[in-house]
Amino acid sequence: MPGNIKVEIVTPDKAVVSEDAQIVMAPGILGEFGVLIGHTPFLTTLKVGMVRYTDAGGQEHRVFVNGGFAEALPDKVTILAESAERRRDIDLERARAALDRAKKRMETAAQKDKVEYARARAALERALHRLRAAGKEVS
Ligand code: ATP
Repeated sequence: MPGNIKVEIVTPDKAVVSEDAQIVMAPGILGEFGVLIGHTPFLTTLKVGMVRYTDAGGQEHRVFVNGGFAEALPDKVTILAESAERRRDIDLERARAALDRAKKRMETAAQKDKVEYARARAALERALHRLRAAGKEVS
């Protein structure tokens, strides 16, 4: 076993995760990446999606992240996200309601308002990734 790396996920409001992990996977702008202890330092932006990490005891955890930045150092990964929730803290009803709202907004805005369409699309992405991070498949 090579040892554990510290993972911290923070938002402007709160510290969501501060834990030791065997491996951390995150949705980088160029694709999902994994970080182990001793990784070469790097900095990247993140897409909306899911961070997964395996804790020191071998249990896998999922955390929704609303974009942001990741800094990887040899012994620590820090993720700064606009919003983030652990799987157990995701309110499914709220995410489903947000998904329905976003779909309706996209239909209304489709032809005439590109900015509103893009906002609704971003809201839809957040809701879909929250539901996925909570283990709910959405068609
Ligand atoms: P909504 O339209 O439901 O507010 P949103 O995608 O616009 O969703 P965000 O702007 O990403 O929400 O987040 C605002 C705050 O609400 C953050 O603190 C975020 O963690 C929390 N939040 C949003 N949706 C959920 C959810 N489904 N479950 C738990 N917390 C949520």
